[in-house]
Amino acid sequence: MSDAPKPIREIRINPIVPTESVLVATARGMRPKKAEAPAVRDTRHHVETCPFCLGNEHMTPPQIARYPEQQDWAIRIVENLYPVLGDDQQQSNFSFGLQHTIDGYGRHEVIIDHAQHGIALQEMSAQHIAMLFGAYQDRIQQLYQSDDRIRYVLAFKNFGPAAGGSIPHTHSQIIATPVVPENVQTEVTHSRTFFAKNHHCIFCALIDEALTFEATLYSRETGEVRRKINVGQYVVERGQKFIAIKPFASRYEWEVHILPLQHQADYLRASPEDLADFARVLQRTMARLDAVLGGAQYNYFLHSLPHGPSYADNAASYHWHLEICPRTSIPTGFELGSGLFVNTVSPEDAAEKLRAVKLD
Ligand SMILES: [Zn+2]
Ligand SMILES: [Zn+2]
Ligand SMILES: [Zn+2]
Repeated sequence: MSDAPKPIREIRINPIVPTESVLVATARGMRPKKAEAPAVRDTRHHVETCPFCLGNEHMTPPQIARYPEQQDWAIRIVENLYPVLGDDQQQSNFSFGLQHTIDGYGRHEVIIDHAQHGIALQEMSAQHIAMLFGAYQDRIQQLYQSDDRIRYVLAFKNFGPAAGGSIPHTHSQIIATPVVPENVQTEVTHSRTFFAKNHHCIFCALIDEALTFEATLYSRETGEVRRKINVGQYVVERGQKFIAIKPFASRYEWEVHILPLQHQADYLRASPEDLADFARVLQRTMARLDAVLGGAQYNYFLHSLPHGPSYADNAASYHWHLEICPRTSIPTGFELGSGLFVNTVSPEDAAEKLRAVKLD
């Protein structure tokens, strides 16, 4: 093994959203953060009193769908008992001076990811994960079709209390809103700007960089080697159609993104074959994170091209992806106040540790 890596202290600009930057500070004295405890996992298969467990279907809010439709279900989708948005009362949009409100119209659904109470994502079969992401696709499609005011349908998962997970039974959520979430909107805007200048997709460019194993920068005057960049060091996992990358300017220490290798803007266009490969890459990535972190609390978010006429012409510049954000430390006042995230593990080291995990 090589010597301990040199401490890094640099501000890295997010290539996709240049207004976002992260301070990568790995020196011991630069660790102002408190560690978040690993999630205490409820590993039970079945819990008599859990409304999400098999046999307790009468305890949940009304069912929207189940997979497979007959017999014992593997995935079940129900209405959210405490929706953050609802469609029961219609109110019109309101503007007064600088105050502007949009009706809090929307849909909020809960996906019971698996019939088994405490199963972790990496313990599910790849076939099951593909079915889960296929179920997201069905719901996203139907929610867009149900109301043309819907601009975005976000599928996400909170796992562990630090990530906002309040129900122990494994589940994820879908929220349909009349506004596009800011994170997605900024990505759409910046990738469009990049496309206008460079005539290609920035996400595809990042994938190409990740797949370039080594780059050497030479001095213009002398021709001597100025810096060797080992770009392939950001790849965590690779399938036939998908790649898991540790972003160079990650906000979270163990953040990993999964993207289709071939350009695709809209998640709804992913074929069953695509989802089968995606599921395998996700399952292996989660197994790597679990092995390194020992029970991570995490969120994942599905980012795809928003719907509506004004978004259609972003299909060449935007590229769908899943962002996995393990919560290993508590954000400091500095981070919350400045918006500058501090990452205390170098993304290069994190990727190397994740890659080094032996999986079958
Ligand atoms: Zn349960
Ligand atoms: Zn692309
Ligand atoms: Zn994103």
